Amino acid sequence: MSTPTLPAWPPALSEEAREHLSHQATDYALSHGIVYRPVPTPPSTTPSTDSTIHAPFSLFPSPFPRTLFNKAQSIQPAYDLLYAQVSSDHAFLERVIGQSVVQVDSFQKQLWDIYTAVKDDLVQPLSLGLFRSDYLLHDAQSEGEAGNEMGSRSGQLELKQVEFNTISASFGALCTRVSGLHRHLSNTTDYLGLEESLKADNLPENQAQDVLVGGLTAAHAAYISQQGKSESEASTQNVYVLFVVQEGERNAFDQRPLEHAVQARGIRVVRQSFAEIAERMTIKPDDAKRTLFLNHPVLGLIEISTVYFRAGYGPSDYTGDTDWNTRKQLEQSLAIKCPSIAVQLAGAKKVQQVLAEPQQLEPLLTTLHADASTAQSLRDTFTDLYPLDDSPLGRQGYQLATTSPEHYVLKPQREGGGNNVYRTDIPRFLAELESSSSSSSTAVARRQAYILMSLIKPPSGLGNFLVKASTPTSKGGAVLAKDTVSELGVYGAILFSNANSHSHGVQVKHHQSGGYLLRTKGRDSDEGGVAVGFSVIDSPLLI
Ligand code: ADP
Ligand code: MG
Ligand code: MG
Repeated sequence: MSTPTLPAWPPALSEEAREHLSHQATDYALSHGIVYRPVPTPPSTTPSTDSTIHAPFSLFPSPFPRTLFNKAQSIQPAYDLLYAQVSSDHAFLERVIGQSVVQVDSFQKQLWDIYTAVKDDLVQPLSLGLFRSDYLLHDAQSEGEAGNEMGSRSGQLELKQVEFNTISASFGALCTRVSGLHRHLSNTTDYLGLEESLKADNLPENQAQDVLVGGLTAAHAAYISQQGKSESEASTQNVYVLFVVQEGERNAFDQRPLEHAVQARGIRVVRQSFAEIAERMTIKPDDAKRTLFLNHPVLGLIEISTVYFRAGYGPSDYTGDTDWNTRKQLEQSLAIKCPSIAVQLAGAKKVQQVLAEPQQLEPLLTTLHADASTAQSLRDTFTDLYPLDDSPLGRQGYQLATTSPEHYVLKPQREGGGNNVYRTDIPRFLAELESSSSSSSTAVARRQAYILMSLIKPPSGLGNFLVKASTPTSKGGAVLAKDTVSELGVYGAILFSNANSHSHGVQVKHHQSGGYLLRTKGRDSDEGGVAVGFSVIDSPLLI
């Protein structure tokens, strides 16, 4: 498939025009809640609770091929179903996670131990997945170089999946607002005379927030009807959706709008950290249903319908056994979890790697009654992925990682950015793993905790003005990044029950896919986290 030629980007701006536009944009951002809590000023380590700074954003939307944007949207429903199915397929999880990464990864092992301890004793058949599949554009002609002028302009771009997130997929609210920002600037005089294509027709509406909120409200409604209650009954007034959050979360204003939108639909919401839940959680010993209650100091004794994790995706969210025990009790309770531990495990990067092996995807899709063209569409988005274990493919992966590391990224089973090992750092990293192991067999075993992925090579020729707020250590404002890379995420919400049988697909109660996140960073930064300050929130200009 040929893709249109990408325009030179961004439009040229005089200094006055740049200042004017960034002032307009920054005030829009501050007016519309495109904000973070400020970075704490030392010696304080907790962010301010009564002031904000704007989240980093791009001054212009970034050109993105319409066909590939549409493709990412169109395959999302199949991806949502696929990961729901993976989470329901115990034999698959056992083989991919239980016999492999958990042997050497203590965080995955904690999750796995809870999963296996409770899996045959669950009282809640429904799980909610709020997913985000992430992609980069791949310039198939760049021949190993990090993009070149000819390749990027010749219409050979492909959509390649970076990863599939099944827990705490963030930025749904903020990216919806940044789409609004770019639409606003294109509807006013702000972009006037700059570039013909900068008009609302080319800026797709963003349903990201609605998709996430739709999932949460569907889960709550399903819980209410399971309990034989009707939503209008007084007894449902005391039933809440629980947001599990990190203490001192700087990105709270990506979460609050979801909370407010759920509340606007007449559903109550409570935010709690792991520590607060540990103190306040009550599951009555004589309640066979294991209804989850929280004894809240202000709200009183409240019942929880849905547990939405915006914390719990990484080791640092668990300070000790108490927090793990809290996670386990939540898992065993009657509340619908977003995600369940099985769904969280399904999002492991190891799963992504195994799905790319021959004959792994197809049986799962057959169970879901998907046709061959669906399998092909998903497969088209896969890069080369390798295990690093003792299998023939794993030995090939190890060989590639040590002899041509410049084409690869090494990933552990972690979320949240900043965990990967890139290019020529890989051999050194593997050598250290070897030297810290007592024997070569432990070195091979330890490598099971990682996957090797070929580097996606985004096209060159695009840049943007990245607008960041001032911090105690850096001056803010719009800065031209001449060579940028944009990562597209597509959201999906799926409420499903595990059919508990290998031959039957999951039963779907609610499913909506759509909405997007575009994050843009300078090419020189390997990692793309917005919250960690490398990338900015952007939106696509479809060409
Ligand atoms: P995390 O779960 O921590 O977000 P990712 O797999 O998304 O981990 O990797 C983090 C970042 O690293 C991505 O946002 C992207 O910028 C970069 N990255 C990851 N995989 C690749 C790849 N195969 N090619 C190029 N860049 C990649
Ligand atoms: Mg991730
Ligand atoms: Mg990521």
